[in-house]
Amino acid sequence: MDAERTCIGCRSRDYQASLVRFVARNGSVFFDAHGVEAGRGAWIHPTVQCFESALTRKAFGRALRTTVNITAEAREVFERTLTHIASVPLHQTKAERLMDN
Ligand SMILES: [Zn+2]
Repeated sequence: MDAERTCIGCRSRDYQASLVRFVARNGSVFFDAHGVEAGRGAWIHPTVQCFESALTRKAFGRALRTTVNITAEAREVFERTLTHIASVPLHQTKAERLMDN
């Protein structure tokens, strides 16, 4: 499980284990917690910075090859995802958490 993927937010390559996967469902994006959902996936670092830049660049739609509407709910899901995986020792998320506190 050391395949590399490109983060749709910052465009840097990283190990799959350091990224989270989102898939398109009914025009919105959903967190694929186990990385097993069928279809195209959008890989992104679990950081607010990468999420925001992906939104700015409309990278989700490009990566998923479909029109996706990033709703307030999808943002919430992403933020919950960040909290959920906060135990993973990624320096980016750690910095993010310190800022949030
Ligand atoms: Zn990134």
